[in-house]
Amino acid sequence: MKRELISDIVEKIGQEVVVSGWVHARRDMGKITFIDLRDRSGLLQVVFLPSNKELLEQARVLRPEFVVRITGTVNERPEKLRNPKLVTGSIEMVAASIEILNEAKTPPFEVDKDTIGVNEELRMKYRYLDLRTERMQRNIKQRDAITNAFREFLRRNGFLEIETPDLVKGTPEGAREFIVPSRVHPGKFYVLPQSPQQFKQLLMVGGLERYFQIARCFRDEDQRGDRQPEFTQVDLEMSFVEREDVVSLMEQMVIEIVKKTTPEKRIQQVPFPRISYKEAMEKYGTDRPDIREDKNDSNLLAFCWVLDFPFFEKSPDGGWTFTHNPFSRAMPEHHAWLMDKSNIGEILTSQYDIVLNGYEVGGGSIRNHQPEALHRVFEVMGFSDEDITRQFGHMLEAFEYGAPPHGGIAFGLDRFVALLCDQPNIREVIAFPKTGDARDPLMGAPSEVPKSMLMEAHITTDI
Ligand code: ASP
Repeated sequence: MKRELISDIVEKIGQEVVVSGWVHARRDMGKITFIDLRDRSGLLQVVFLPSNKELLEQARVLRPEFVVRITGTVNERPEKLRNPKLVTGSIEMVAASIEILNEAKTPPFEVDKDTIGVNEELRMKYRYLDLRTERMQRNIKQRDAITNAFREFLRRNGFLEIETPDLVKGTPEGAREFIVPSRVHPGKFYVLPQSPQQFKQLLMVGGLERYFQIARCFRDEDQRGDRQPEFTQVDLEMSFVEREDVVSLMEQMVIEIVKKTTPEKRIQQVPFPRISYKEAMEKYGTDRPDIREDKNDSNLLAFCWVLDFPFFEKSPDGGWTFTHNPFSRAMPEHHAWLMDKSNIGEILTSQYDIVLNGYEVGGGSIRNHQPEALHRVFEVMGFSDEDITRQFGHMLEAFEYGAPPHGGIAFGLDRFVALLCDQPNIREVIAFPKTGDARDPLMGAPSEVPKSMLMEAHITTDI
């Protein structure tokens, strides 16, 4: 007989079925034994009756997390014994035979309980067990639903899903990059992308017009808060758009995703309020204002856009550096200032950030598609002509071949999912996250590698 999912057998009262899964709990009640069996769809109460002594004895050796296959009959539970909390609360299975598919050691923590209070290092070391818990299963499923809702909206709106490389040349987006030595080109390095920024713009030059990607991004920064060295962005770019086009389409997308995946949530205000950077700083003292009317309402989602950021700020060495993204375009009314490098501190960028309940969940901008303007940005930041050509020559050259006006945005998927799932940090919604100090306790990364590997990669180390 074919294995059935627990959630599907509710309809099969009186029939004999086969279910497989993990022993969630065992209760010996005098002459009867109950097993709660768990599969990806839910929990099922299985009864072992005293009439079948041999079977009862088999059941009594079962321990939590044993993997079993059970054949039995689906029975309706008497009214009094129904459990409204379970999808299968109106039925139970009377076992006829059981096969142990695999035994299990006693887990280092109980997986039939929420592990939020369990030592996190331990949870990460045994992530495959942690993932069995109800809350983690729910989080991972919600993440899938939300990712799918992004994908679905974007595809319906003409965006193509396109992969960009992970072995790239560095991009000056502000973060330290992970470097990857080249074996075949001694002394040369790739870096892992901190975002697909340059490639997505090149796709616009390539005439694809609408791109998106569920993109893995890498930033080698000292860990602050619950940042991860690798994280996921829903990254997109569009041609022939102005700020308003991107902002309004993204707003429509976010509203649709919330309605589809977390219908219990209420969006505080539509259209999302738009707050200038200046107003945000003056009124809230932060550029990520939490504008919720009721901070105790866990179902309230207060989105807002923060706009009109300064393009440049003073760098520690007294020069100018960009605040958000060097590839952004200045606001049209400040374009002339950029071009003649005047009023630098007053130039506003077309950057738009989307903030949810006090967290930045996305950000993007309209880009400089004219090579002279992009050149000017790097000049303001004190790059020599030589440096500009060496580092960004490929972008400037590409823009000389008829680059369309374009702009885009990237959503931090981990944060977005964590907020929609009411989770306290992004590690709760990532299947295999890293610790605060960038380690993976499960696989043991980072780790030493054999000397021969280092030599092949032309690396010498004193450590
Ligand atoms: N590349 C930017 C980021 O990673 C997003 C964008 O401007 O589209 O924040």
